[in-house]
Amino acid sequence: MNAVTPINREQRPYSAAAQAVLARKPALFINNEWVASSHDKVIEVEDPSSGKIISHIADASDKDVDRAVAAARAAFDDGRWSGLPPIVRDRTMNRFADLLEAHADEFAELEAIDNGKAKGMAAAVDIPGAISQLRFMAGWASKVSGETTAPYTMPAGAVFSYTVKEPVGVCAQIVPWNFPLLMVALKIAPALSAGCTIVLKPAEQTSLTALRLADLVAEAGFPAGVLNVITGNGHTAGDRMVKHPDVDKVAFTGSTEIGKLINRNATATLKHVTLELGGKSPVVVMPDVDIAATAPGVAGAIFFNAGQVCVAGSRLYAHRSVFDKVLEGMAQTGDFWAPRASLDPEAHMGAIVSKEQHEKVMGYIEAGKRDGASVAMGGDAPSNGGGYFVNPTILVDVNPQMSVVREEIFGPVVVAQRFDDLDEVAKAANDTCYGLGAGVWTKDVATMHKLAAKIKSGTVWGNCHAMIDAALPFGGYKESGIGREQGRHGIEAYLETKTVIIQL
Ligand code: ADP
Repeated sequence: MNAVTPINREQRPYSAAAQAVLARKPALFINNEWVASSHDKVIEVEDPSSGKIISHIADASDKDVDRAVAAARAAFDDGRWSGLPPIVRDRTMNRFADLLEAHADEFAELEAIDNGKAKGMAAAVDIPGAISQLRFMAGWASKVSGETTAPYTMPAGAVFSYTVKEPVGVCAQIVPWNFPLLMVALKIAPALSAGCTIVLKPAEQTSLTALRLADLVAEAGFPAGVLNVITGNGHTAGDRMVKHPDVDKVAFTGSTEIGKLINRNATATLKHVTLELGGKSPVVVMPDVDIAATAPGVAGAIFFNAGQVCVAGSRLYAHRSVFDKVLEGMAQTGDFWAPRASLDPEAHMGAIVSKEQHEKVMGYIEAGKRDGASVAMGGDAPSNGGGYFVNPTILVDVNPQMSVVREEIFGPVVVAQRFDDLDEVAKAANDTCYGLGAGVWTKDVATMHKLAAKIKSGTVWGNCHAMIDAALPFGGYKESGIGREQGRHGIEAYLETKTVIIQL
């Protein structure tokens, strides 16, 4: 069942456009200008498909963060963005989306080079997803409004009372490395639409597309200071952003561990906080499924983006009667998901983002084996020219106490278990501190709804997985987060509600 086939994993040549981006001097985007950091510390940019250092980005200092926050504060306080007619904010965001669309191929390549993901996947998922977030949220600029509400305890006509929706203010937005540009768009779109101003920090491992996007900010027509992009480390620049007294809201996507820390750090100044954190999402396969359609879907649920997905279907529960067939079907997708260099046109799965993450994933596989798990597929790293590849892996003979079953691996590793009845599998699915996503595969409508009701997670997918849409709220139960992004809930998270009561 091993999927390894001889593959040339040498990275392919970069385009001239990508080389031009890599050749740029490290800089920060503040007040619609590229500025140098106050100190000369930099962070190396590595191509995970080759392990080579290909560029450098600025490692923002406290002074740099303060400068970016001051720019965002001034831009918010004088209303140069929030005071514009909603149609102007809407059009500016759509122009931003148009510019991104015009450069889609370049962005897909940069994402593939920087993150290690297959360029084809970035072109099909990440970049269109980012554009869609911007366009969907642009429309909300003109759709949010307050209400006139009659009071409960006062006679009619005694007062005139109404609510107004106002932007929260200056937002510190911190995003992770798994879908760099898509996460940026998910964060900035509702904030911009609401009229907030932003200091954005991409992950230190994957800042290239956020920086390239900053090039388009002024051209789209955003006033200076509305969207500032700084690069730097989490424990320094990120920490400064979270604690900064002039920041009104923190929005974070990343690990549960850092999310908890950020939540604590933001408390001192009682900032608004939204957190989108980790997961260990269950995928339940009922006995009635069409195996030929289900097995590739279940494989894609874990192997897409090399499993570096917060909603990755990393715990498979297949009914005892179909377990072996589902695993056989998943194994047949091994060649499709075999890791390749990110710019290889045949790649569907690329490299793991970094050496550190590669070691973490391999460490989990080893721990699983030590604990008694057996490898049904993969379980190893292919030999190659320096890239951080992991073969798609299925572990069986696991039990709920093992770290591979309990903890988020964030790699192409699924643990597969059998079950006999619905209550048993619902209990197993919920036996986790996380609650971000879950998948249910069945033709039986009643079973689908019963499981959707029983599973405690922010999203339940039926006969699909990780389907994300800008109109549909996304977020976590339990330790998977606080708040919701996307849809009406997403814009509400960037608005204050003011109540006005006027005695007549
Ligand atoms: P991962 O564990 O997946 O690498 P993290 O949760 O560590 O992800 O990082 C996600 C984002 O959070 C990155 O942009 C990182 O720089 C930032 N970050 C990490 N630590 C902190 C911190 N202490 N305060 C603020 N941001 C942080």
